[in-house]
Amino acid sequence: MRLPPVLTVAGSDSGGGAGIQADLKTMLALGVHGTSVLTAVTAQNSLGVHGVWELPVEAVRAQYRGVVDDIGAAAVKTGMLSSAPLVSAVAELLAGTDAPAVVDPVGVSKHGDPLLAASALDAVRRELLPAATVATPNLDEVAQLTGVVVRVPEEMPGAARAVLEFGPRWVLVKGGHLGTGDAVDLLTDGTAEHWLRAPRHPNRHTHGTGCTLASAIASRLALGDDVPAAVRAAKEYVTGAIAAGFAAGAGVGPVDHGW
Ligand code: PLP
Repeated sequence: MRLPPVLTVAGSDSGGGAGIQADLKTMLALGVHGTSVLTAVTAQNSLGVHGVWELPVEAVRAQYRGVVDDIGAAAVKTGMLSSAPLVSAVAELLAGTDAPAVVDPVGVSKHGDPLLAASALDAVRRELLPAATVATPNLDEVAQLTGVVVRVPEEMPGAARAVLEFGPRWVLVKGGHLGTGDAVDLLTDGTAEHWLRAPRHPNRHTHGTGCTLASAIASRLALGDDVPAAVRAAKEYVTGAIAAGFAAGAGVGPVDHGW
């Protein structure tokens, strides 16, 4: 059987919980062929990010062209892009690729470590978001990108509209950081509104949830789902992965892709 190829453009997490490692595990679990373009190497474990080394723009371009020109991509996912030159280069590559793009506009890690330079925010707004089929910001990223602060779920549609102004076809505003009983997300293209709810799991081992969700959306798109179906399936997948998250190291452990 030929598995559809799905490309992740993201950073490496040496601890195996987030980034490229989470993306490839998700893709394996969902039955697609994962390929990867590395943007940065992080020295990272369950306690945080201890160092970041960016790859040169040329190395990112060469990986991307090498993969897409030979293997192809049925969907692309982007995660940690680190700097303005890398954001611009990846946005240009996405715009020239005939595949749906899931853009996770990663800003900082759960431990508060920066994964994107402040000077790159403008390139994310003006170059990367317009190339997105689905953008998946959490509420911190929404605030950083648009200035809209969400305190209750009722404020999520306004936040979604502010993100859509930058040009992604769909936006999934992730409300997981709100202290509500359920984890509530809103998917919209400006007309349809899809609310997704999942019971909040008390598990603290949630490292890599954002990467996992975006990769699951890309995988389901590659398998033929439309955007709302892909997001629903991905939310179900990440909810199970969080419930099965486990300790690995002294800090925040990873979600589990084998549940
Ligand atoms: N490290 C890398 C390379 C990532 O891409 C990400 C998230 O996108 C993280 C760390 C942060 O993961 P979390 O916020 O789930 O701890």
